[in-house]
Amino acid sequence: MIAQNLSLVESRIEKACKSANRERSEVVLVAVTKTYPVADVETLANLGLSHFGENRDQEGREKSANVPAHWHFQGQIQSNKIPSIASWAHTVHSLDEKRHCEKLARSLPEGKKLGIFIQVALDESPGRGGVAPDGLAEMADWVLTFPFLILHGLMAVAPLGEVPDQAFGRLASIHSVFSQQFPDSSALSAGMSDDFESAIAHGATHVRIGSSILGSRSNPL
Ligand SMILES: *Cc1c(COP(=O)(O)O)cnc(C)c1O
Repeated sequence: MIAQNLSLVESRIEKACKSANRERSEVVLVAVTKTYPVADVETLANLGLSHFGENRDQEGREKSANVPAHWHFQGQIQSNKIPSIASWAHTVHSLDEKRHCEKLARSLPEGKKLGIFIQVALDESPGRGGVAPDGLAEMADWVLTFPFLILHGLMAVAPLGEVPDQAFGRLASIHSVFSQQFPDSSALSAGMSDDFESAIAHGATHVRIGSSILGSRSNPL
């Protein structure tokens, strides 16, 4: 089942890349394994996947201890979890506060580097996380002051109740301005099970896909 789902998702990614005149190699598939057992992660690793994403520290810590891979954290950051997240995650997608950035940098084990995406708020409603577009440059400058944080680019989630194409269109213009200011940080993490084709059309370099591959979650995060 998982293998079939994965190959279906793979072909959808390929098709979306083709329609957008992009190479498949420009898009990293991050399999979001939150709430699924470690056995599913092992299945995906055996099928050739090497990027996995988690929303909760404890799950990420346990699964990453069992399956060596590139581990992403894309959940809401809780300050007291930062030392642990810094120990197992290779990339954090959901940075939206300066103090978290500083704490992540200070918590990193000796010699370890951490990839960072700054989360963009695509709507006005507070609570879903993200930095307002006019605060992104300042946040990026801040991230860049920490030598062991590697700023990859921007991340976003399409707001509920908005057509993804419209939200990701807005994201594409924000991203275009940002990449001109920060040419070494031009990655774009966007797109989930229901909207990744649209995200790819608008320039996503990292898609975060869970339920299309692993089935619907009984307790969504
Ligand atoms: C859960 C989650 C995903 C994956 O969502 P699916 O709809 O299962 O593909 C991607 N990004 C974030 C931030 C998430 O919380």
